[in-house]
Amino acid sequence: MAGRLDLSDPVTALPGVGARLAELLAEHLGVRTVADLLAHYPSQEPGKYRERAAVKPLGEARIGETLTVIGRIEGWHAFTPRRRRGGKGPKHIARATVRDEGDGQAIAAPFFNQPWLPGRHPQGARVAVTGRLERYRGELQLRSARLTPLAHDAPAGDAAGAGNGASADAAGAGDAAADDADGGLLATYPATAALPSERIARLVRTALELLPPLPDPLPAALRQRHGLVCRDTALRHIHVPPDREAVRRARDRLVYDELLALQLAIQQRRSEREQDARGLAQPPAPDGWAAGLLAGLPFAPTGAQRHAIAELHADLGAAGPMHRLLQGDVGSGKTLVAAWAMLAAVDHGRQAALMAPTEVLAEQHHRTLQALLAPLGVGAPGGPRVELVTGSLPARQLRGLLAEVAAGEVDVLVGTHALLEQRVAPPDLGLVVVDEQHRFGVEHRIRLRDKRDDGHHPDVLVMTATPIPRSLALTLYGDLDVTTLDELPPGRQPVTTTVLRSDSPRRANLERFVRERAAEGERAFWVCPAVDASEVATVPGPEGERSIASAVETADHLAQGPFADLAVGLVHGRLSAAEREAVMDDFRRGALDVLVATTVVEVGVDVPEATVMVVEDADRFGISQLHQLRGRVGRGRARSHCVLFAAEPEGNRRLEALSATTDGFALAETDLELRGEGSLFDTRQSGLADLRLARLVRDGAWVARAREDARRLLADDPVLADHPELHAVVRGHVDPERLAALDSG
Ligand code: ADP
Ligand code: MG
Repeated sequence: MAGRLDLSDPVTALPGVGARLAELLAEHLGVRTVADLLAHYPSQEPGKYRERAAVKPLGEARIGETLTVIGRIEGWHAFTPRRRRGGKGPKHIARATVRDEGDGQAIAAPFFNQPWLPGRHPQGARVAVTGRLERYRGELQLRSARLTPLAHDAPAGDAAGAGNGASADAAGAGDAAADDADGGLLATYPATAALPSERIARLVRTALELLPPLPDPLPAALRQRHGLVCRDTALRHIHVPPDREAVRRARDRLVYDELLALQLAIQQRRSEREQDARGLAQPPAPDGWAAGLLAGLPFAPTGAQRHAIAELHADLGAAGPMHRLLQGDVGSGKTLVAAWAMLAAVDHGRQAALMAPTEVLAEQHHRTLQALLAPLGVGAPGGPRVELVTGSLPARQLRGLLAEVAAGEVDVLVGTHALLEQRVAPPDLGLVVVDEQHRFGVEHRIRLRDKRDDGHHPDVLVMTATPIPRSLALTLYGDLDVTTLDELPPGRQPVTTTVLRSDSPRRANLERFVRERAAEGERAFWVCPAVDASEVATVPGPEGERSIASAVETADHLAQGPFADLAVGLVHGRLSAAEREAVMDDFRRGALDVLVATTVVEVGVDVPEATVMVVEDADRFGISQLHQLRGRVGRGRARSHCVLFAAEPEGNRRLEALSATTDGFALAETDLELRGEGSLFDTRQSGLADLRLARLVRDGAWVARAREDARRLLADDPVLADHPELHAVVRGHVDPERLAALDSG
């Protein structure tokens, strides 16, 4: 039979697949060709591959053995079990009693959360039940069972020898018996009611039988380096594995292929874009301001900061344009690293620009730089000159400043989007730093870069305080080099995190605590998901549903009740930028003790005296958002606290994760696991949608290997001219349009 089928054939080339089934496959699974069908991989969740089991009479089976019993359904008992604590356990149990036609014994088989089963296999139906024989509360049961309908009167023995290819459309006894005849594991497929897993499995097996051995596009050297099985084996074993080890090896190979294809595609784009890009060689001078900055620091840089500076040192000195992401948790000290790099460019007589997404952040960077550069005589004659460029500068003042910028008199420009305007024209821009780059579009970064008109690109450093797991960064920012500050400066007070029910009696203690801290000169943030009561979202409350907490009402309540003796401020996104800044300033200065806010305080706001962060209805926020909010406190010397309120915090894994760790990278991994990589972006638009088997957290090591291999391959063969088969792999795995969404410029 082998050799008759081709991967590119439509599914109708398979025996037994007519127009109707082809339509179902296309509609439900997006499967049109044989290749599509084979790329509809079985579920890789634990427990989804099952042992094939021998058909045997119950009387001959041992406890713990997996076996198949053939007989008729005698009856069903369907019920809703009492839920265990924490809501674990099945919501619905349908318990079948099956009478073994071999020796006439009856056996029970419970099925969890499949309420449709009794309707589909009514009393009297002849079935094969495969499961593990166990004694449960004194009764013999087939546990974790799977039901296959059988033709009504064919005795199992006869059907076992029948071929299954030609009757792929019929749910015949042959399949169940054939499944069990030859050992190995059975896959479970993502399925729908119209296309159950068993039916997909049969189609896949038919296709694999008819396909000739598939060629392997991967160079043998790579396969050997990673000990990977060949593609043909991988495809066959992911679907029809002889054992669990074979599944693992098959999956490794297919995961590697996906990741390699994605890395090749991302890196090819990058090299195409940068083919003619000339950078600036600006090796840091041993006696310039950059060196002076490090020499004059009042603290020792962390190991991570030193490592980052070494990496930037090499980038800056190289002739090619630097293109690096600096990621680090809040407070990890990114500004120092950026300041050092900016001064290295300034030491070459060039200018540097630092762009932040909001005025609050731009101003804060400006202040931090003034402080860091104070020992160099910043602003004084002979010292570096750092200026703030924002949209809210008075016109006359702005004009004067821009003239000085154009004359090359300003060394470091800090600002918002205003920096992008054409009239901001530093004569010899050497380095561009973009903070919180995900808040900007690619085109913004390109506009900053294009401020040089001599065709050279300035070096580019992007920073983010929203840490993402390294494996994800390497994929998402495949076109960037990644440096991670994974160490906080010593002496930081860890923030204690407490999760409380919204109606907890401990709320009164918290209010008392905040008053005590305020008396010591400390401050508190009080964050709400909504601005005011016009929000329609509700959560369960003591007397039925209540609206989610709003900043306006919470501020009123706190100012009139528990904090009547304190100064309570309010800031949210509906205020003008100037109004927001005025309130923030009051809070920074200490004119306000408690700042009620929406998430406008999320990123970057630095008030060392703030030691308490309260978040109402915290379950309305994502992990990374809550982590950012918590990062607003613990920035000074005093011990800090974060209190997360939720209507029903029990069993909320995000809140549990937050109270368990303050490590932003660990939280990002948890987030990725809980939500899946797709939810972090619009999957339909990103190249990540092309990852079918690969999971970035679990497969982090493969991400790194694939990235490195792609690099080496493209270094020798930039357009894959000598590897036409790899070119085909890339095209087969990666949609160029979706890839564009991964581009970070
Ligand atoms: P972020 O990474 O959140 O931007 P910052 O650069 O604002 O962090 O640094 C947070 C604070 O820590 C700043 O006040 C900075 O001066 C200080 N800092 C940075 N590096 C160190 C260090 N190695 N030791 C002590 N304090 C440091
Ligand atoms: Mg360079």
